[in-house]
Amino acid sequence: MSPDPRPKFLQVILPVPRYQTYTYRLPETWRENPRPGQLLWVPFGRKKQIGMVADLRSEAPIGLEEIKEVLEPLPADYGLEPELWKLFQWATQHYLSPPGEVLRTFFPNSILKGKLDKGERARSPSPTIFSSQNGPVTLNPDQNRAVTLVKEHLGTFFPILLQGITGSGKTEVYLRLCDEVLARGGGVLVLVPEIALTPQMLSRFVDCFVDKVGTYHSAMTDTQRLQTYWGLKEGRQRIVVGTRSAACLPVKNLSLIIVDEEHDSSYKQEERFRYHGRDLAVVRAKMSKIPVLLGTATPALESRENVERGKYHFLKLPHRATAKAQLPKVHLVDLRRDRPHPDTLLSVSLREKLLLTLERKEQALFFLNRRGFAPFLLCTDCGEVVRCPNCEISLTMHKAVSRLICHYCDFYLPILEQCPACPSDQLQAYGSGTERIEESFQKAFPGVRIGRLDRDVAQSRKKTEEMLSQFETGKIDILIGTQLITKGHDFKRLTLVGILQADVTLNLPDFRAPERVFQIVTQVAGRAGRHELPGEVFLQTYRPEHYAITAAMAQDPEAFFVQERVFRKELSYPPFTRIIQLKLLGSRQDAVARASRKVADSIQTLMSRQKTVNILGPAPAIFERLRGKYRWQILIRSQHFESMRSCLVDNLPHLEQGLEAGVRLQVDVDPVGIF
Ligand code: ADP
Ligand code: ZN
Ligand code: ZN
Repeated sequence: MSPDPRPKFLQVILPVPRYQTYTYRLPETWRENPRPGQLLWVPFGRKKQIGMVADLRSEAPIGLEEIKEVLEPLPADYGLEPELWKLFQWATQHYLSPPGEVLRTFFPNSILKGKLDKGERARSPSPTIFSSQNGPVTLNPDQNRAVTLVKEHLGTFFPILLQGITGSGKTEVYLRLCDEVLARGGGVLVLVPEIALTPQMLSRFVDCFVDKVGTYHSAMTDTQRLQTYWGLKEGRQRIVVGTRSAACLPVKNLSLIIVDEEHDSSYKQEERFRYHGRDLAVVRAKMSKIPVLLGTATPALESRENVERGKYHFLKLPHRATAKAQLPKVHLVDLRRDRPHPDTLLSVSLREKLLLTLERKEQALFFLNRRGFAPFLLCTDCGEVVRCPNCEISLTMHKAVSRLICHYCDFYLPILEQCPACPSDQLQAYGSGTERIEESFQKAFPGVRIGRLDRDVAQSRKKTEEMLSQFETGKIDILIGTQLITKGHDFKRLTLVGILQADVTLNLPDFRAPERVFQIVTQVAGRAGRHELPGEVFLQTYRPEHYAITAAMAQDPEAFFVQERVFRKELSYPPFTRIIQLKLLGSRQDAVARASRKVADSIQTLMSRQKTVNILGPAPAIFERLRGKYRWQILIRSQHFESMRSCLVDNLPHLEQGLEAGVRLQVDVDPVGIF
């Protein structure tokens, strides 16, 4: 074979949401060929733009007329290292994502926008609000086993699922491992679901490693993120604690990846580049030949199944780390017998328990998976429910801001006095959200200090931190909240946890609903009795016999896994199949329906030779209209992921080009929540 002639053309990825790459001419004067992953300036439209080299070619693609020349390269250290370029390629191919969308996850905004200074060199890490009480602890035998196992496998790909109940000392294991890796000159990537909600976790890292730790998450400014990016790339920072997008950061000499709360659905990005931070992290570990530690109290079914299949090593931390802390006692409340109070949703038994708790000057936490005052406003004369004009979903009443708000598109109306469909003024707020619970508690327990934490409060990071620290320091007796309060907080005087209605989650139209319930209940329950005081949990439900409830009652992830596995297998759901979801969106219903049929037909033809592929739809999505767009979906399901993926990867650009104007195509590989 003769060596390739000198390449004259480049395929360049630009940060735009298209499947195609763009062809440019390589200037004759360039001495060196750019390498894939390198950044350069190119003319794009009337402006110049930063893009990334995907490929070099000796001939131009046929049919292109005028091909512009590349302007200039960026310094080599701005591009992706070979290792990350490999990960980038995998991500694009695996998630069937337009490469330009992936680009925007791999680079901080500032770089792609052409702000090329590297930010100030040194900076102090973010201020801590919780100071950690303890110095280094002596690890218990279970913790030691975990640390030793990881240490022994540094330098090889070694995925471990670490299943440890809340308070079992997982974070101590992470810290010890970081210490080890740092001592050997390596770097560590620590992924967490949401940083704003777990300031304690971050502060423990900062306490231990001070300015060697960087953070990376979406609440940071572009400049702050740029600082962490360069800090890691240039090795000034060796550890990064960040949310899902941190999985793509250029950590120097990366030697270990830790994914905390690996089951958490916020690792999945639901827009643009639809990747899963945990899965990307595992692939990165594989490519870099390093261990990856997945920690959780309630493993994702996929992860636990990987243990079953021998892909992941399995370790447990079965006990709470401090001998004094006992697992809480869990009581089941059958709401069919012990009816909830219509306003507070408290059953008689839970109410009694709460009064005792308050008497003892201890704290209580109540969980309800629904924010706002009431989920709908209903006309009791004609039955009309006030709905969002963009989404056709009922508007949630929010009393504090006097609005009816759509939880999907943020559309709002003032709270109506009169029915939109008839002359009646008999409008009633039906059902309860956290805001109503807070109000009812204030009426029912005068003098008791009550706080609330949900997305509405958490819009301000400051308010979130204030609320959490008030509860931590005992300035609040009762905290009411949604999912946000289930994360890793550690409250010393919290002894009572109430799950007001587990059914809100159990009845979601999603095959993962039982898994969610199990995880949420376990997480919430884990908040109680983490210190000297024993804790109790009350779980209220209308379906006490459901296996997700009974397993959660017993705090038994293995029991849940065994049953859920049977259910998934019978119905051919993941992890026994894989799903790729194609979604078509547009503002005209007929156009979306037509385009969906056309795409589904093409897919049928493309996959006709693959017997194991099962195509569902096209059909309107569960929420057919969201944010003013009609939405249809096609679900492709198969046990053989690679055959359906490879079939799509070559044809997506073509399918995209064939769409009629005004219709968009979105692809979601391994979707979480099929709405
Ligand atoms: P997890 O991350 O599993 O929820 P943590 O690592 O936060 O658990 O540990 C829970 C509490 O127990 C923390 O206050 C921690 O400092 C303490 N702890 C952890 N391991 C030990 C140990 N070996 N000895 C004493 N205290 C420990
Ligand atoms: Zn009416
Ligand atoms: Zn809406």
